[in-house]
Amino acid sequence: MNLIEIKNVCVRYGPIEALCSISLTIASGDYVAIIGPNGSGKTTLFKAILNLLPLTEGSISLYGTDVRRFTQWNKIGYVPQVSRNLHKGFPATVREIVASGILSAKSFPRMIFRKDFSKVIRAMETVGVCDLSNRLIGELSGGQQQRVFLARAMVNDPDLLLLDEPTAAIDPATREQFYKTLREINSQFGKTIVLISHDASNIGHFATKLAYLDKHMVFYGRFDQFCASPEMTRYFGPHAQHLICGQHCPMKGKL
Ligand code: ADP
Ligand code: MG
Repeated sequence: MNLIEIKNVCVRYGPIEALCSISLTIASGDYVAIIGPNGSGKTTLFKAILNLLPLTEGSISLYGTDVRRFTQWNKIGYVPQVSRNLHKGFPATVREIVASGILSAKSFPRMIFRKDFSKVIRAMETVGVCDLSNRLIGELSGGQQQRVFLARAMVNDPDLLLLDEPTAAIDPATREQFYKTLREINSQFGKTIVLISHDASNIGHFATKLAYLDKHMVFYGRFDQFCASPEMTRYFGPHAQHLICGQHCPMKGKL
């Protein structure tokens, strides 16, 4: 089943063309990494998928319904791109941050009930932050905070997770661990994942598909296909082959 179908989408901000002729299909069970330079329209694509801005051209459907008429937003968990320089004393615990995700799916009365806390605990267990439950969010490392925001996005048990540069400002080892957690969430819990990453060299080893965006869709396919493609050499240069693709592509043969 196709969860997201994007057909010939263009988005303009006044005179700025942010996206042009984008077509992309994301199926249930995919783990898609979107890469591209700064300003290439990655965040704009997420905002368009979430119906947060109007399309200049084209159409997007979610679960077969035009995005403008789509209402089942609790099926989608979103981790937006934000600077996470939270003050050390920011007055919210990990449990409270994760619980706030429950409110976003509720209409009036927007209250958290005792029964909601089993969802909070399940989400914290899934991403491995239960032991941090009572800690203040601002006291945690960047990698730990990122897991907490992932738990918040997962608290309503969505099928689809959209993550916008969740690993910016995290050290490489923690970042890889985070990608691995996402792969487990993808394979064990069957969640479909779309992740924007600035980290072309690593994410390709974890995601099942790669989309290279630069206002238009430069490439969309498996990582090993990307490594062998002329687009790879054209955009990153002949010497980047080794850096980005390494000596082997671990996803090769698994698909
Ligand atoms: P990315 O996430 O790939 O860095 P964005 O989607 O944020 O790229 O931005 C794509 C282009 O659209 C950039 O040129 C950016 O300056 C422009 N842009 C993004 N948001 C707005 C906005 N709200 N108003 C005007 N221009 C914007
Ligand atoms: Mg962005």
